Amino acid sequence: MRVVVTGGAGFIGSHLVEKLVSRGFEVVVLDNLSSGSLENLSSVIDRVELKIGDVKDLKTCLEVFRGADIVYHLAANPEVRVSTVEPRVHFDENVRATFTVAEAIRMLGSVKTVVFASSSTVYGDAQVIPTPEEHPLRPISVYGASKAAAELLLYSYSQLYGVRVVVLRYANIVGPRTRHGVIYDFLVKLSKNRNQLEVLGDGRQKKSYLYVDDAVEATLLAVENSTHSFSVYNIGNEDWVEVDSIAKIVCEVLGLKPEIVHVGGTPDGRGWPGDVKFMLLSVERIKSLGWKPKYTSAEAVRLTAHALSRELNLR
Ligand code: NAD
Repeated sequence: MRVVVTGGAGFIGSHLVEKLVSRGFEVVVLDNLSSGSLENLSSVIDRVELKIGDVKDLKTCLEVFRGADIVYHLAANPEVRVSTVEPRVHFDENVRATFTVAEAIRMLGSVKTVVFASSSTVYGDAQVIPTPEEHPLRPISVYGASKAAAELLLYSYSQLYGVRVVVLRYANIVGPRTRHGVIYDFLVKLSKNRNQLEVLGDGRQKKSYLYVDDAVEATLLAVENSTHSFSVYNIGNEDWVEVDSIAKIVCEVLGLKPEIVHVGGTPDGRGWPGDVKFMLLSVERIKSLGWKPKYTSAEAVRLTAHALSRELNLR
């Protein structure tokens, strides 16, 4: 089976590509290398077809998607914080990009399934925790809104043009090769100043972190088991961890004891405007397919801190 992974040279994408290759899929990667890198694909580079190009370009999508059964659409700008200052980036890279992907699929008429990397941020400040898939979508960042808008676009394509859509609302996914998010930020800060660590917000933000291998397993299971024209799954951990605890774990991994200072943020203790303070997804739906995370949130954070500190030569 031929599959395309947009954003396949990125963090989650490259782990997904490795797994798909090991399962015998013929894999095509479409990536513009804006945040991803070929190094991420080094273990499979001679076993994948690589197209350097932009998903916002319809001609490129038409060329790359031809003959594919499944398109995993992961290409996006994943930095939630960007939308506080540059909302257009998320409109372009997440909404316009997804529209282009959907249009290419409509025009070709041969792609059977599109899998979309959505986000827990679509729920905003959830009223119910753990948050189930049926919870209203009330994003408080333009990033979250861009993912919700892209989901709805894909819903209409699933109803009108017969393509099966699988939406995955990822919690915080962590692991080797990640180059954004709180663990990476802490490591970069500590590499510059080993005596003090600045934590954005009051440090009491509490969220769910899932190791990337667990996320990839859940992704493939969801795709294999979705028979409806449109399916949505939360993909997250069963527990959560506070930002201050993450800071402690990262410092332990580096063997440092810096002063922790809380800076910036919002009056109610968020890291930045649009930062969801408490996030724990209900994962009952994906668990009903037989999936279970191997690592807790804290274990996933620790494994990631170890991996990144090696990648960044910090130890
Ligand atoms: P990443 O930045 O490592 O990967 C994104 C990849 O897409 C990169 O390789 C980048 O070069 C590529 N890309 C970006 N814009 C492109 C474009 N216009 N055309 C072609 N390629 C383009 O990020 P990631 O963490 O691996 O995220 C993957 C997906 O999962 C994204 O859609 C992100 O929004 C979503 N997601 C990630 C997380 C997380 O915690 N990492 C959580 C929720 C959702």
